[in-house]
Amino acid sequence: PSTMREVFIETPNVKWSDIGGQEEVKQKLRECVEWPLKHRDTFRRLGVEAPRGVLLYGPPGCSKTLVAKALASESGLNFLAVKGPELLNKYVGESERAVREVFRKARAASPSIIFFDEIDALGSARSEDASHNGVLTSLLNEMDGIEELTGVTVVAATNRPDVLDDALMRPGRLDRILFVGAPDLATRKDIFTIRFKGMAIEPGVDVDDLARITEGCSGAEVASICQDAALSAMNEDLESPFVRLAHLLHSARTVRRRITPEMIR
Ligand code: ATP
Repeated sequence: PSTMREVFIETPNVKWSDIGGQEEVKQKLRECVEWPLKHRDTFRRLGVEAPRGVLLYGPPGCSKTLVAKALASESGLNFLAVKGPELLNKYVGESERAVREVFRKARAASPSIIFFDEIDALGSARSEDASHNGVLTSLLNEMDGIEELTGVTVVAATNRPDVLDDALMRPGRLDRILFVGAPDLATRKDIFTIRFKGMAIEPGVDVDDLARITEGCSGAEVASICQDAALSAMNEDLESPFVRLAHLLHSARTVRRRITPEMIR
């Protein structure tokens, strides 16, 4: 009996415009994943090599999953999402089989993206642990087995790039490495603006002010401030016509900030 969740092929519905900031990450992903698929001849003519895989690293809640989904939906690629820890199984050989199965499905669904979230669970450096090493080896083998033309791109994400085995980052594997950082002032403003489009907000609320007082928040925390403020508004008055500035300020003041300085080095 397997405890592993089955991996399904998705077509996410995230647009580039749903994501605040991160312009450089968006551009680089388009260049290295969308272009090789859409402009194969130009790549060949100019002698540009398409990357097999991309590693996204950075603090939690800062849009790694979101950009991977937008890349799939905007480029018309099938999307297979796998969380590293979900592939781990205590039965001998099961995890390896699960890794192979993910790649088999991705090839069948190509052009496609395999999104490995929390890749560190599978890809941390070799250790005494034989079963861990077995999983890592099958991951490396599968990545080597993707021929450029099969149209499968691996996008992996981690908050802990330092623990990954160097072999994962060799050419032909995760050979593009992109830092996805915490949102800066302008990006936090963008995220508030995007969230507010789907909300009723008290007239006069200034997103610049909100962006300023949410220094150090992740994108996920900015999103949760909006949610939390909306719930406070309902708690106060079930017929509330909008979320007031006071609710937003209160949520911004009390949200727990999870990003620590060592995550953004
Ligand atoms: P983790 O490392 O914890 O897996 P992550 O970097 O993959 O996190 P996401 O899952 O992409 O983070 O982001 C979490 C949520 O935060 C998103 O679903 C979205 O609501 C919000 N969010 C984060 N960054 C942005 C952004 N730049 N623009 C809009 N929303 C954002």
